[in-house]
Amino acid sequence: MRAWQLYGFGDMRLEELEDPRPGPGEALVRTRVVQPSVTEAMLAFGTETFGYETVRSALADGPARLFGHEYCAEIVALGEGVEGLAAGDRVADVAALPCMECALCLEGRSEDCRRGPHVGFEMPGCLSDVAVVPALGLVPVPDGVSDAQAACLQPACDCVAGVDAARLEGGETVAVIGQGPMGGYTLQLARAAGAGRVIAIDVRAESLATARELGADDCVDASDGDPVAAVLELTGGRGVDVAFESAGGAPSSGLGGHTTLDQAREMTRDTGRVVVLALLPGTPPFDMLAWRGRSIELLFPPLGSRSHLARAAALAADGALALDRYTSHSVDGLERVAEAFEITANKGRYGALGPCQVVVAGD
Ligand SMILES: [Zn+2]
Repeated sequence: MRAWQLYGFGDMRLEELEDPRPGPGEALVRTRVVQPSVTEAMLAFGTETFGYETVRSALADGPARLFGHEYCAEIVALGEGVEGLAAGDRVADVAALPCMECALCLEGRSEDCRRGPHVGFEMPGCLSDVAVVPALGLVPVPDGVSDAQAACLQPACDCVAGVDAARLEGGETVAVIGQGPMGGYTLQLARAAGAGRVIAIDVRAESLATARELGADDCVDASDGDPVAAVLELTGGRGVDVAFESAGGAPSSGLGGHTTLDQAREMTRDTGRVVVLALLPGTPPFDMLAWRGRSIELLFPPLGSRSHLARAAALAADGALALDRYTSHSVDGLERVAEAFEITANKGRYGALGPCQVVVAGD
């Protein structure tokens, strides 16, 4: 098989390796569509974001097969002891696997475990013709969901977990800060979970136009003035019940730093909820009294589990979740993976709304 290996930051190479065989509890899958996550694309070029130390230490031992957890693949063969899956099934994968050893896993709460390995980091993902992956992260893809859509299920399942964490009650008003793919999925999932008015916020006109197509009631262009003032005006001074933060991140990557976390609090009503979806780097300045004084809940949802992913897939099959609205760029052939990383790491320069997909194999 052909597989991509990372030799150093900014140095990926496609090589011929021996075909892997699935061991107990594993599946051999053939990659159909794979996309770099934005985090993976930044890491491949050495940006110090979430997972940087894992990648740096993997590279210290020589070339490493990293990344590729956002994919749609077809099961070729199963190792011993795998149930509920069959050869020929199309599948998607969760990013964070349970460890199956900790107290939570042993209590039967493996979906809450945060100690297991991450596909694409502690084990290879699908930047190869075929790959062996643990079966316990795999979820069958329904017929109505295309390969390209299914490759977006992993980031969408994190948003399902985020919307669950918000405990939305019918008709509540929601703001979503950041209208990249995560923000766009969250906006649709909040609507499906019973949100009333949904306010989308971004600094990019094209992202806000997409948000409006996906059902946002109001769009606030934060490049055009204070988004907090705009949201307070839209809500008659009350503020939203729930704000989702999906814009923050390293300013060196063109993201919003920590400012959007404070904005989320300021636009939320007293005793409302703020759900953090972004990976905020470093140590943000934290004004404890500003949160405590207004009894605002600051929530960090779990990562998406298999049940979250299955729900995202079902919503997509029902037409309630447009998964591929952010797939503006796509390339054909495994040999073009490095190009997809370049585009995904520099979305602004290429005019990409989300990750660049790689179509590896079709029917
Ligand atoms: Zn565990």
